[in-house]
Amino acid sequence: MKSTIYHLHYDAEKFAIVILINEKAVPFLSGITPNNNVIKMLMKYFNFYPPNLFDFDQVNLSFTEKFGFNDASINSGIKDGFLEFVIPIPAQTLVKNEPCRECNGSGKNYLGERKCFSCNGTKLNRISNTLSVRSTVATLYLLLRYLDFTFSNFSEKNEKNKIKIPQDILLSISMESGQCKGGVAGGFSSEIDEKSKKLFQDLKIKEPYNFSEKAIGGPLVYLEKVHNDMVSFYGHMYGRPVSESESRCEFNASIKEDGRIYLQTIGVNGCSVYHERSGFGNMLDGLTLTCHNIDYYLQELTLLVGVISYYQMVSEI
Ligand SMILES: [Zn+2]
Repeated sequence: MKSTIYHLHYDAEKFAIVILINEKAVPFLSGITPNNNVIKMLMKYFNFYPPNLFDFDQVNLSFTEKFGFNDASINSGIKDGFLEFVIPIPAQTLVKNEPCRECNGSGKNYLGERKCFSCNGTKLNRISNTLSVRSTVATLYLLLRYLDFTFSNFSEKNEKNKIKIPQDILLSISMESGQCKGGVAGGFSSEIDEKSKKLFQDLKIKEPYNFSEKAIGGPLVYLEKVHNDMVSFYGHMYGRPVSESESRCEFNASIKEDGRIYLQTIGVNGCSVYHERSGFGNMLDGLTLTCHNIDYYLQELTLLVGVISYYQMVSEI
């Protein structure tokens, strides 16, 4: 694995996002303590607990232990020079072994002619898992923000720190949920852009998916693995599998000849992440990622998984 400041992986079996931090960069994360004002604010605002498990100074670098808001991530210790945090993304609803409150366990709607909307005909009660999802999003948000600062410390532009470490991806997400309040932003290095162009040439499936060609312009190549990772992740987090027609019509993962990607998930009016033309907002020297119409954590994290799955694929070239 290339010695960058950090890498992001997606573990499709565990539905987990993995953050691998270069051990040389770990000391720069010591600002993440329970006394940090951002952490205090998030704890208060979102009612998180317990405070003592978010302290980078206390992170044990060799043993598996919980880390983050409400134990959202697992610190797996240092492996091959990288400190590994595994962040399993929880489902947004949990199925309880009791009758569905909406249909009283009949599995049908009140007219009896369709499946109950709440339990999808399973007859079992479903309860919201919002606190768990939100604490996971907050943990990801905070780690990614601090890794941005860490990148600044090691970048070519920082003259104070003599150790320079390259970086190929920077990502940030929104902590909020609601109409257009979600978001995934960031960018890649020019090295990843070059690899993306090569990937376009190497991939065999030239058939574009639905309307994305019009949306982004020009020929597109379908990214099957990224598409499949997003679809299975969405099903896991939503609590029921994505249907074949939803997968075909609502999801998209494509790459353009110049290395730009276009990812789309379920949502009104094109909920997506894609490369924009300007470099504004990207601290790296490659293409900039921006997003459109992300409302909910489900959409935000599905698109984040898509970006990470793509990064993992392209960085292995
Ligand atoms: Zn029901």
